[in-house]
Amino acid sequence: MEVLRLILNRYFFRRLWSSGSSDKNKALVEQLQRYGVIKSRKVAQVMETIDRGSFTPSGSSPYVDSPMPIGYNATISAPHMHAACLELLEEHLQPGMHALDVGSGTGYLTACFAMMVGPQGRVVGVEHIPELVSLSIGNINRSAAASLLTDGSLTVHVADGRSGWPELAPYDAIHVGAAAPEIPQPLIEQLKPGGRMVIPVGTVFQELKVVDKKLDGSVTIRNETSVRYVPLTSKAAQLQNY
Ligand code: SAH
Repeated sequence: MEVLRLILNRYFFRRLWSSGSSDKNKALVEQLQRYGVIKSRKVAQVMETIDRGSFTPSGSSPYVDSPMPIGYNATISAPHMHAACLELLEEHLQPGMHALDVGSGTGYLTACFAMMVGPQGRVVGVEHIPELVSLSIGNINRSAAASLLTDGSLTVHVADGRSGWPELAPYDAIHVGAAAPEIPQPLIEQLKPGGRMVIPVGTVFQELKVVDKKLDGSVTIRNETSVRYVPLTSKAAQLQNY
């Protein structure tokens, strides 16, 4: 009888645990909606579909609105920053569009972009730490975006993101997940007319900048908000003291 009780208990808690993660992810998305960070239904949907729990280190608290260390002096951005960037880029992540994620880290936003542009679109993540590229591929494979990785509409590459990824340019959307001292010229060049880039710029004080390339090719830049990201730099500089 005791054994049966133990087995049933174990089964119950296992189920609670496995159903718990997606419920907690949903609650996080609802919280971001209540705070007004997520306004669009599409952004809410994609953040519900791509469970943050598949992208955070084991033993961490994935559903807390905070950035987290992922090793190599890098972090997974806080959920409210992921949400804010998705909101800013939403119109440029329509089905069939091309998107570039520079400093793709865990692959969380790369996976969200791929879900939004769909199998007819093309999403490229560029990350200069090979171990993080392998980690992100494992993460994406555990997420709802796995089939997009298999069919090749989503790829992640080891490269210096300051040069962008010219092979699939021009991009409707470019996201940079690390702060550049100034906007790298190749990224502006790889933006499609009508496209938008979201990039944190600065060293100690950083601003999230929204760069719009108009259809005539002219570029406008505005500040969205103050932020704090890890630097967009060389691999050697990033791994110093690591
Ligand atoms: N959006 C990612 C952010 C990861 S942190 C996430 O939420 O998971 C920023 C990432 O930029 C780090 O993984 C870091 O290794 C990477 N990075 C920094 N400089 C880079 C460069 N020059 N080229 C490519 N990746 C870079």
